Amino acid sequence: MSLDGKVALVTGGSRGIGAAVALRLAADGADVALTYRDNATAATEVAERIKAAGRRALVIRADGADAADCAKAVEETVAEFGRLDVLVNNAGVGAVGPIGDFALEDIDRVLAVNVRAPYLAARAAAAHLGHGGRLITIGSCVADRVPGPGMSLYALSKTAMIGLTKALARELGANGVTVNLVQPGPTDTAMNPADGPYAAEQASLTAVGRYGTPDEIASAVSFLAAESSRYVTGTTLSVDGGHAA
Ligand code: NDP
Repeated sequence: MSLDGKVALVTGGSRGIGAAVALRLAADGADVALTYRDNATAATEVAERIKAAGRRALVIRADGADAADCAKAVEETVAEFGRLDVLVNNAGVGAVGPIGDFALEDIDRVLAVNVRAPYLAARAAAAHLGHGGRLITIGSCVADRVPGPGMSLYALSKTAMIGLTKALARELGANGVTVNLVQPGPTDTAMNPADGPYAAEQASLTAVGRYGTPDEIASAVSFLAAESSRYVTGTTLSVDGGHAA
């Protein structure tokens, strides 16, 4: 299997896209650490499924809003498994509303979880990722196309991931580490359920006319994590059903 002997860390691996990514990387052969903030039960269930598939798993409570927790998750992974090959920065929070409705605390919280946390985790991981290392971030299709009002804070946070990806690709390329961004379109999770109040409108904005599944996003991460994608770096892979087309 393509990730045999490798170790991956997936932030926000307890549910939704992160859980699908954690399970897929384990199916590809990796041992997997996953973080959560509130949902210990869901995180433990994902870990049990990884172990049932014959891989090692580690569950770490780490709040992306807490700067110390971001590096701690990387260090605990390395302490447990002895190495880190793949970091998937996935944990994120949504934010929808007119710009005037966001209090300073909202702005700080969203930027802490969606921007500062992946930056700090990447910084900690960069010290451990060796040749063949992979840094993969989950952004959003709204970084390419904002479909309507109310997205200022979320789009701000996700667009920042494009710059981080390009800059770190330049910085880590000489070490044999690739850095890439996956931008999902509307994907059926608790954050954005396919039967939610604005789901039909979001589905209609895609070329294929439907929501994506977490597994479809995980497939793209699996491709970018594999050795065969070693010449792909500094780029964005949109998995958005044509939302940006
Ligand atoms: P979910 O809300 O379904 O899951 C979020 C995950 O992130 C959970 O594991 C949750 O942990 C964790 N998490 C949330 N806040 C924090 C925090 N402060 N610190 C650490 N972990 C946290 O979201 P999705 O799976 O839908 O989203 C995953 C990523 O994909 C996000 O970055 C999101 O912005 C992005 N995305 C999602 C789209 C969609 O339509 N669903 C579209 C485009 C991008 P816990 O279980 O403990 O709460």
